[in-house]
Amino acid sequence: MRYDDSPPPPESAASVSPDPPWYARRSTLAVAVAALAPTALAGWVLTQVLTGSGPGGQPPQPKALPASHTTGAGAHGAGDAKASTATPSPAAPDSASASASASASASAPAAPAKGPLAGRTVVIDPGHNTGNFKHTSEIDRQVDIGTNRKECDTTGTTTNSGYMEAEFTLDVSRRTRALLESKGAKVVFTHDADRPWGPCIDERARIGNEAKADAVVSVHADGVSAGNRGFHVILPATVKGGAADTSKIVGPSRDLGERIAGNFARSTGSAPANYLGSGTGLVVRDDLGGLNLSTRPKVFIECGNMRDAKDAAQLTSPEWRQKAAEGITNGIVGFLGG
Ligand code: ZN
Repeated sequence: MRYDDSPPPPESAASVSPDPPWYARRSTLAVAVAALAPTALAGWVLTQVLTGSGPGGQPPQPKALPASHTTGAGAHGAGDAKASTATPSPAAPDSASASASASASASAPAAPAKGPLAGRTVVIDPGHNTGNFKHTSEIDRQVDIGTNRKECDTTGTTTNSGYMEAEFTLDVSRRTRALLESKGAKVVFTHDADRPWGPCIDERARIGNEAKADAVVSVHADGVSAGNRGFHVILPATVKGGAADTSKIVGPSRDLGERIAGNFARSTGSAPANYLGSGTGLVVRDDLGGLNLSTRPKVFIECGNMRDAKDAAQLTSPEWRQKAAEGITNGIVGFLGG
């Protein structure tokens, strides 16, 4: 069964690999460490420790010009390939700063929130919905994602013992909300177990857009065969078609995603996925409506593989989920400069 957030086919992952690994672009120190480390993974972990890309870490480094990503175009037919008229453009950090100033100019509340994220809005999107299993006709309805049409929503996966991805995503999202609110952020959920199913992926994107979110994170866990382990963060590809135009969010979303990946690894001790992303923990996709329709910096995180017993042991642990929430939160804080 293929889920909306199931991993892209091998050729998609391969199309991402020509990019220099993101950890190698952090700094000359990072490059040196990565080069000296015996394996890419060791270099990656060391880099995270040494460069401290989290809150209080180094300021964002200048970014290399992004390659044009048309992930999955080959696997999804010529229609997608045409829709993905990638227009390579310099990374656009101005988008994030523009949204920051827009947010700052919003009417001040009587008792302003305090903390490093005061005045910032973060939208958290708990993937799927525990009720989706009972509403298959509703969630199977096709919705327009700009470049394509796709199911409104999917059921998500489960562990072998039946712990639902939708339970996991809601729990991690709530833990993340508590942490973000403690730092002064305004947090908006796309749903909070307050509706029988959904929302549809187009509405999930719209909620982030209408909230003028400074950052949006969609929380998931993967459901692939045992032996595939680790986390990965999904970044939006450059897509344009219908209501989809990610050109302004590709740059800031990569920044957000890199910071979440680094902090997530450090907080949970999990390694980047061993089955896609070439060990970087980052994958670019052009087939997710929740990303294609977003006008705000947005990423998905697949926190682990529910179908792998070792990953599942972590995903079902409340203590581990708290660490996951801390990693996601620290990544957001770093991105927002808190
Ligand atoms: Zn999912």
